[in-house]
Amino acid sequence: MKNQMERWVLRTGCGAFIGLINLVNVEAQEVVAEHRMWSVKDSAMVADIHGHILGQGQCYEDLRVLCKDIGARLSGSPEADDAILWGAKTLRDAGSPEVRMQTVIVPHWERGSVERAWLRVNDGEPETLRVSALGGSVGTDSILEGEVVMFKEFAPLDEMGPNALEGKIAFFNRAMDPLMINAGGAYGGAYEQRSKGAVKAAEHGGSAALVRSLTHALDTFPHTGGMRYDDEVNQVPAVALSTVDSRRIAGLLQAGNAVRVGLELECVLHEDKAQANVIAEWKGSEFPDRYIVVGGHLDSWDIGEGAHDDGAGIVHSIEVMRTLVAMGYQPRHTLRVVLFINEENGNNGGKTYAQRAREKGEWHVAALESDAGGDAPRGWSIDATDDATDQVRAWRSSLDDYGVGDLRRGGAGVDIGPLKKEMPAGKRPLMVGLRPNSQRYFDYHHSNRDVYENVHPRELKLGAAALTSMVYLLDQLDHDNLDGEDR
Ligand SMILES: [Zn+2]
Repeated sequence: MKNQMERWVLRTGCGAFIGLINLVNVEAQEVVAEHRMWSVKDSAMVADIHGHILGQGQCYEDLRVLCKDIGARLSGSPEADDAILWGAKTLRDAGSPEVRMQTVIVPHWERGSVERAWLRVNDGEPETLRVSALGGSVGTDSILEGEVVMFKEFAPLDEMGPNALEGKIAFFNRAMDPLMINAGGAYGGAYEQRSKGAVKAAEHGGSAALVRSLTHALDTFPHTGGMRYDDEVNQVPAVALSTVDSRRIAGLLQAGNAVRVGLELECVLHEDKAQANVIAEWKGSEFPDRYIVVGGHLDSWDIGEGAHDDGAGIVHSIEVMRTLVAMGYQPRHTLRVVLFINEENGNNGGKTYAQRAREKGEWHVAALESDAGGDAPRGWSIDATDDATDQVRAWRSSLDDYGVGDLRRGGAGVDIGPLKKEMPAGKRPLMVGLRPNSQRYFDYHHSNRDVYENVHPRELKLGAAALTSMVYLLDQLDHDNLDGEDR
């Protein structure tokens, strides 16, 4: 059953809520005859889209500019402002008929200029540790040092008394499960340590949380990410520790050494700030009041360059617009490309977009997202009614010809996720997330390794071509014909 039902996180990114969803491989199921099959015209169009993007796509150059001229762009930062302006200009240059900003209020957290951690074995000299404060963490008042207590699960900690960690630092060291085929599933299995570690430590009097970086890679790069506090519990600092350092501390503790860790962090949470989603719109010829939205998130963490997460999804989405305009396509439904802000630490971009769509009574027939990196595309994660899922499944063998026939049911993307919640029953979109190969994604994710150089140009373009093709296919559907019973 393991290869048929794998747990995949709702989004492999980031800071806000993450849900674990069972992804069911649907390939073995029967295709229902009444669904729209690929026509000769579809085959020609999808081939043309691939030829166009592989031959003259500009997404890799867009990614270079986003990564090298702007770089890391956490919500609230001046770099995120620059990215918003860049996104609007790039969408205009790509031929979007209309581009506008949608104001979004975002949190503004900064890690500060001092970020230091050290290790002391049996009261010896301090040795440097490689850490990265988790997004949203409080700083330390001057410096903090404490004895380290290691946990692989929360259960043994839960059984301890409320003051069991008084003055100590909880070290959460459960590795991502190496036996899971899907790396996203392994990420989801270790994720709670990062999201809840600080609360768990504080509940037992701990002074800080040290969390093993969420990656399969054994390296010296800490991988940051979102975390949250609980109003009932003291806020204590939380940092990600590199996997090499995590292994070292675990070995020292297992050998019976006394291990102390010190931290000095200057993290600050400023007032919320107004930033924006960037929305490009192209009116549909047949159904101007029905929308197909495709996007990714423009913000990134504040280390690395946000190349895979989610620069790739941004340039994929821009390429959809550029390609369809350049090919002289006329969308039947109104097509929107949305560069969402604040996915990593709040998802306020996705929430604001969905709330406005509900207020205006917009029917989003389909929503697509690319937020799982720029590696070679393999398939799709489908969040839709049974009938709509069957419809996508009807295209499976043709999708397979392009290497993207791996279809699973599960979360399609965090930014588009709120549309499902905000839309009334019967009007929920058919949601599809691009699923690239996940095996190397977490080597880069949320770390200094998430840079332009680690994205492969051809694989990035294949992702853009797959996404553009799926937008085209969903635009060709008559969405009234899909059974909306469980929509
Ligand atoms: Zn992301």
